[in-house]
Amino acid sequence: MTKDKQLITGKTKLLGVIGHPVEHSLSPVMHNAAIAQLGIDYIYLPFPIKPEDLYTAISGFAAIGVVGFSVTIPHKQAIIPLLSAVEPIAQAVGAVNTVTNKNNSWVGTNTDIEGFLAPLQTYHQDWSQKVAVILGNGGAARAVVAGCTQLGCAEIHVVGRNVQRLRDFSKSWENSLLQVNLSVHKWDELPKLIPQADLLVNTTPIGMYPKVDESPLSAAEMANLSPQAIAYDLIYTPNPTKFLQQAQHIGATAIDGLEMLVQQGAAALKIWLQRESVPVDIMRQALQKHLGF
Ligand code: NAP
Repeated sequence: MTKDKQLITGKTKLLGVIGHPVEHSLSPVMHNAAIAQLGIDYIYLPFPIKPEDLYTAISGFAAIGVVGFSVTIPHKQAIIPLLSAVEPIAQAVGAVNTVTNKNNSWVGTNTDIEGFLAPLQTYHQDWSQKVAVILGNGGAARAVVAGCTQLGCAEIHVVGRNVQRLRDFSKSWENSLLQVNLSVHKWDELPKLIPQADLLVNTTPIGMYPKVDESPLSAAEMANLSPQAIAYDLIYTPNPTKFLQQAQHIGATAIDGLEMLVQQGAAALKIWLQRESVPVDIMRQALQKHLGF
């Protein structure tokens, strides 16, 4: 096995990603780039698995000795009952994105929180006076709420368009292992929240390719964001999104979703390979090249 050429041998160890659909996943690009750089005998493959086939697929993975796998939509919650153990952080979030074979049993964790937090660490030492405003209340918003809780934000506001789903979201944290203190708001309350935000996170798909001219906020709404604030879009294509362009226009700091993707992947690879470090720069470069940045 050379550094730049990946050969499959009789001993090649298997990693992968399960999802449905999974064709769009960028994980094989970044993980195989890291594997090639490390010169190790592994391969990372996409596995399209329908919800009704999840149990059979996971049993099959055990039978053929898969080392570990990533989990994406729609399996992040459904995988939990099929695992022998779930790390506390994944239990708190209620979703697993990384599964590892430990002594022939499956252990689940969630590296999205670590991925979300990685690019934020350099900005403030102390978040205890900071206000986070999160747009959207879906799967990714859960990792963001957990991340903002870990940062110790003074206030966490979640903004959504559906009152019942907002209530369910709020309620879902009540018995969480994390001490989550959040308030939920309808979209029309945004104008009052934006001026208070130190961290404004878009977890909705608004503005994602191909609808690149859309933003969750109007220019007038964004104009009320403090120039000292951080605008963070979980979307990674286009780069930057309209949301981030609006934020940059008013002088705020902009963070795109690529680093979260890279860092959650790097955290997973460290777990599977039991290594202290993996080539994060190579993973990032592989994604940037693939996306044409
Ligand atoms: P999801 O579970 O479907 O949640 C999407 C959320 O956005 C829901 O709360 C939904 O509201 C809201 N939403 C959708 N369209 C909307 C609209 N037109 N107006 C207002 N709200 C709207 O999806 P997800 O898994 O959380 O992913 C969300 C985004 O994050 C995607 O763009 C995804 O690519 C990105 N993401 C990035 C990373 C990364 O590593 N960078 C990781 C995960 C996700 P309702 O609940 O009312 O439907």
